[in-house]
Amino acid sequence: MSTVETCCPTSVAHLEDVPWYSAPIPPAGHECWRQSWHTNENGLLWLERCPCGGARVLHPTAGSWFGHNTRATGRALSPSVIRLAAAQAHRRASRHERQVVVTGDRQVIQCTYLASTAVADCGARAWVVTINPASNHDRIAVLVRARDGRWAQRWESIQRLGDFRVALLPVGHPHHGDRRLRTFADDEAKRFLDVVTATPAPRADAAAAMARVHAGGSR
Ligand SMILES: [Zn+2]
Repeated sequence: MSTVETCCPTSVAHLEDVPWYSAPIPPAGHECWRQSWHTNENGLLWLERCPCGGARVLHPTAGSWFGHNTRATGRALSPSVIRLAAAQAHRRASRHERQVVVTGDRQVIQCTYLASTAVADCGARAWVVTINPASNHDRIAVLVRARDGRWAQRWESIQRLGDFRVALLPVGHPHHGDRRLRTFADDEAKRFLDVVTATPAPRADAAAAMARVHAGGSR
């Protein structure tokens, strides 16, 4: 069996193409978010940066943010601090997570369209590309198999998606080397699934019901 690894250069990408060091500095009490993310040579996300200067190591398991608000103080995290955090993340990882590193499996999240859109049919399978913890994942980016058979990247309301589940992509899987898909560590996957599978707040239900009443009420 051929196990030719898709060769990916290391890369960095940014939310709306704005690097963390160019984005406005957030207020001191903010919750850190992923403004920039670094991908290693295996296509795995390993580091996130927040506009406050904070960093988070993701590989093989997501750590906590550190270096919070360093940009406001004019201090910057040195590469050696980040390397140390990466080494600690590796030591902290569970046996399962280390195994994922050894085998090269990627842990990703799959979901299903609950409604038809201009691009995809109800029931279409999709892969999670970008999550949105700052706004409770109300909109996320997915890679979906479009009606014309091509894979399309789309931002979708979380209301249109369901049946979220973790999937392990072994080396050789058609999407294993697909760097658009987001790789999830165990605790990240759990946090994401907890939020997106939670029962919607009653208030949101009431607002949706009201909207339906208004929509139906117009003659
Ligand atoms: Zn931050």
